[in-house]
Amino acid sequence: MSERPKPLVASRADLALIEGYHSAQVDVSVRLNTNESPASPPAAFVEAWLSALRDVELHRYPDRGARRLREGLAALHGVEVENVFVANGSNEVLQSICLAYGGAGRRALTFEPSYALHAHIARITATDVVELARDSDFAITSAAVALAKAADPTITFVCSPNNPTGAAVAPEVVREIEDATAGLVVVDEAYGQFSSWTAVPWVADDRRIVVVRTFSKTWSLAGLRLGYCIAPSWVVSALESVALPYHLDAAKQLAGELSLGFASEMNDRTAWIVVERERLRDAMVDLGVTVWPSDANFVLFRPPGEARAVWAGLVDRSVLVRDCSSWPRLDGCLRVTIGTPRENDLFLSALGEVLASNLKEGE
Ligand SMILES: *Cc1c(COP(=O)(O)O)cnc(C)c1O
Repeated sequence: MSERPKPLVASRADLALIEGYHSAQVDVSVRLNTNESPASPPAAFVEAWLSALRDVELHRYPDRGARRLREGLAALHGVEVENVFVANGSNEVLQSICLAYGGAGRRALTFEPSYALHAHIARITATDVVELARDSDFAITSAAVALAKAADPTITFVCSPNNPTGAAVAPEVVREIEDATAGLVVVDEAYGQFSSWTAVPWVADDRRIVVVRTFSKTWSLAGLRLGYCIAPSWVVSALESVALPYHLDAAKQLAGELSLGFASEMNDRTAWIVVERERLRDAMVDLGVTVWPSDANFVLFRPPGEARAVWAGLVDRSVLVRDCSSWPRLDGCLRVTIGTPRENDLFLSALGEVLASNLKEGE
């Protein structure tokens, strides 16, 4: 490999302190590392999208306000169009929130361990980050909420269900955070379809709750890069003011609109994924693995022995899970996404083999 050229202009000094966000893209046959849907979207949806694409006027800019897509999402959630902001993946929604409400001299707050991109995106937008700790069961305590109040953030991120630990945050806790802080409370519900509750009914112009959702998980459209938030209309106006003009291309708007016609098929997947998740958990417990409860499409677990070696042993058997073992507060932990029944069987048998061979080596 050639050496990297020397930069002639220095980039922002604070960026040097920010570690890049990486999820290994290794060539394996069973990919259970990024919490995508194991099922492709319904064939009828793909057909409808491809045929509608023929009529797109490609020489014209797309609808800047993504009106029809936003109308569809507003109808889905029982809110007004003015309460919906759409972007290229929920990560771009999070970035827009940081651009509009963060920035130099402002603070964003997270409860760790949580979705690494909340802190990461905040830092990229030069927002200061205050990371508070969850307790040993990964719950947000009243003591942590008291610290949140003292930190006076303009943005507090609450991931529910929480990635990578799995459980939803209790509604009372989100209320407590809203009462304690004066800024936005951004509830990231990327796995909201798996949760027993949603903060969407709490979104109102006289409250500070913003709910972020994505098409990347239950909607089986991670490749499309589409996400949105349900927010007070004054938040949506602020987010629109930081979005690039025409940031959502016509093909994507169309896909989003049409996918909403398949909501029940998409939601049906959550039911069998939950059944598979519980089957996987039980089988892993039988293998002597510590498994945390999950309200999502993945489980966090701690295998006996050295986690990195278990991860590598799984890769040797063409199974890829997420290695969280070097992340703060997740010592020895791995995270597996729930796949198809066949993929889950392959994961379980590979895990069984790896643990058995590690045991033998330890003898
Ligand atoms: C997967 C995930 C997202 C999705 O991001 P996209 O940019 O929409 O693909 C957002 N938040 C959390 C917590 C996630 O786990």
